[in-house]
Amino acid sequence: MRYNAYMSIKYDLHTHSTASDGTFSPTELVRHVAATDVGAFALTDHDTTSGIDEAAQSAQQFGMRLVPGVEISVSWHSHVIHILGLSIDPACDNLQQGLAAIRRFRSWRAEEMGCRLEKKGIAGAFEGARILSNGRLISRTHFGRFLVQKGYVKDMREAFQKYLKPGKPGYVSGRWAELEDTITWIVQAGGLAVIAHPARYPLTRTKLRQLLGEFVEAGGTGLEVVSGSHSHDDNFKMGRHAIDFGLFASMGSDYHGPENAWADIGQLPALPDGCEPIWRNWERDHSISA
Ligand code: AMP
Ligand code: MN
Ligand code: MN
Ligand code: MN
Repeated sequence: MRYNAYMSIKYDLHTHSTASDGTFSPTELVRHVAATDVGAFALTDHDTTSGIDEAAQSAQQFGMRLVPGVEISVSWHSHVIHILGLSIDPACDNLQQGLAAIRRFRSWRAEEMGCRLEKKGIAGAFEGARILSNGRLISRTHFGRFLVQKGYVKDMREAFQKYLKPGKPGYVSGRWAELEDTITWIVQAGGLAVIAHPARYPLTRTKLRQLLGEFVEAGGTGLEVVSGSHSHDDNFKMGRHAIDFGLFASMGSDYHGPENAWADIGQLPALPDGCEPIWRNWERDHSISA
């Protein structure tokens, strides 16, 4: 008979800290996760691994298992797709060079967003977002928080609807990383590439399956079947796609902090029947026989 060291652990493989657009520092995040029944979690900040050292130290103190991760912004045709790298080695040069290039685009985009909002009568948005980001990378989330704080909109939802989503005055399009390059960096860093929140993209079923095909072809291994931003129906549909394409299933809340509307840590449902959990890979490494 075989027992598994991590078999009874609950996983959350998608969270953010102040290293990107979360509101908890890595230490505060670990403390928050430790207060739930989640036993292992991944820190997956947008386009940076700068929160991982602090998170790893805190995780050790709190007896939590931390999976080092990242959420990479990718351009695929006219769409922006998020690819998670799980169980990566942050010291990988190629990964870091790739992330640095994305952050350069991010900085340019943030200034451009500021200019466009200025033209719409919103002064000081770039500076405001920069201050809210604490000198770390600037995302649309920071602009959204600025717009809420200054009273231009009533909440984040309205900030995105009115100013920040594609087609709105503050939206700046451009080229993020390529899908193939991204998967290569993740693989070179010893990690597993996972498509984040697949049901959230405005893709038809045909287009989504085209993405999944190309993703598998390029060395991608996982699909975030259960996401804090999915409906139950989404979770089951994505579970089906994972099985069809032979992808491991992942789950993550996409937690950004207490004021985010999406699921809190520890609130996710289990993976749908028939899905192969992505943590099987890691549990195997730590499995014990009896
Ligand atoms: P960026 O990577 O800078 O384009 O910002 C994307 C981030 O904005 C996502 O990771 C979410 O955290 C956030 N976001 C996107 N859409 C919304 C929305 N409708 N409401 C709140 N936050 C959103
Ligand atoms: Mn985010
Ligand atoms: Mn995302
Ligand atoms: Mn995310």
